[in-house]
Amino acid sequence: MTEDATPAGLSSATRAIRAGRVHNDTALAPVLWASSTFVADGVEEAHRFATDITMPKFYGRHSNPTVADFQHAVADLEGAEASRAFASGMGAISAVILGLCSSGDHIVAQSQLYSHTQLLFQAVCPRFGIDVTFVDGTDPDAWDAAIIPGKTALCFAETPANPKLALVDLERFGAIKGPMTVVDGTFAPPVVQRPLEYGVDLVVHSATKSIAGHNDAILGVVSGSEELLAWIRGFAILHGAVASPFDALNGLRGIRTLAVRLRQQTETAIVLAEMLEAHPAIDRVFYPGLPSHPQFALAQRQLDQPGGLITFDLAGGRDAGRQLVNRVELAQLATSLGGPETLLTHPASTTHVGLLPEELHAAGIGEGTVRMSCGLEGVDDLVADLGQALDSIC
Ligand SMILES: *Cc1c(COP(=O)(O)O)cnc(C)c1O
Repeated sequence: MTEDATPAGLSSATRAIRAGRVHNDTALAPVLWASSTFVADGVEEAHRFATDITMPKFYGRHSNPTVADFQHAVADLEGAEASRAFASGMGAISAVILGLCSSGDHIVAQSQLYSHTQLLFQAVCPRFGIDVTFVDGTDPDAWDAAIIPGKTALCFAETPANPKLALVDLERFGAIKGPMTVVDGTFAPPVVQRPLEYGVDLVVHSATKSIAGHNDAILGVVSGSEELLAWIRGFAILHGAVASPFDALNGLRGIRTLAVRLRQQTETAIVLAEMLEAHPAIDRVFYPGLPSHPQFALAQRQLDQPGGLITFDLAGGRDAGRQLVNRVELAQLATSLGGPETLLTHPASTTHVGLLPEELHAAGIGEGTVRMSCGLEGVDDLVADLGQALDSIC
């Protein structure tokens, strides 16, 4: 546990308020330590700071007090021994993969992944002699079947996963022996899901999303054992994708309201998911809080709340998708999730516009697939807005 860990037995909501205050002095709010370097009190102290990269007052690429407080807070919420922040979620993911795997190693990753994580596995890993096998992450047996004993170094899961909010059974995934297990938990932050409790080795988050939660930071974080984090820190100072103190400050600010934001976003998502499911313009809704989700029972077991993300397929395909995202007035068309504003994305006409229908299908995306991140607006206003846009395309 980190040096300022909150006492055992407190709820996540309380931990989110108390954690990450070591470098606050008497300030109540997080302090922005903008300095890139720190003055040592003599050569002995300089030596200690230079040789222990957990020391937060040496040089900003090694560590920083504001970033350290953000890391403490995340570790506390995850139930981790340690965390390391990065300049982005991809900074965290690439440091885990390239920091822990070597030429000749093998990785098993699920095929349902954030697009850039997939690109890292497909395009970058092979250049470094790292083979990757993709499996259906929802099939617990597929992971075991793909592991090559003595060669598979790492298994990488994302849960809930892009784009259809499919789940990986964390109990089965955490029980994998041999390779390191890594979960990207961006869609379910630690007040909702804690993969380390299942025996998973590392959990990564794009803290850009729900954790910072206000669309004003690009930030990533990895949590796990002190032993693994020591290795990741060693690589991180060479990799150089360090979190900016300002983004870490926004991350820590976000953590304070994470529980209440998620509760509100979940409440809204349940109302909107039910509304969508009943609307004739909709072919299918994917939401872990609906009994129609193919893994509803698993969602009830491993997610404290189903969260604020809903993915749905419009019956009218690509045209309907384009019309919907153009006709909503309150909800906005933007990439990202977990913030105060309700956002829609239509991958077939934006992020995945270059793909043929069969390629879209292989990526788990339909021509009429829309992903919605429920924000903090009044739920009745969102129901009215989505309703008028859907009614207009029927
Ligand atoms: C956004 C996202 C990432 C990448 O995070 P950045 O902060 O944008 O680098 C990784 N995984 C998932 C699931 C994401 O949603």
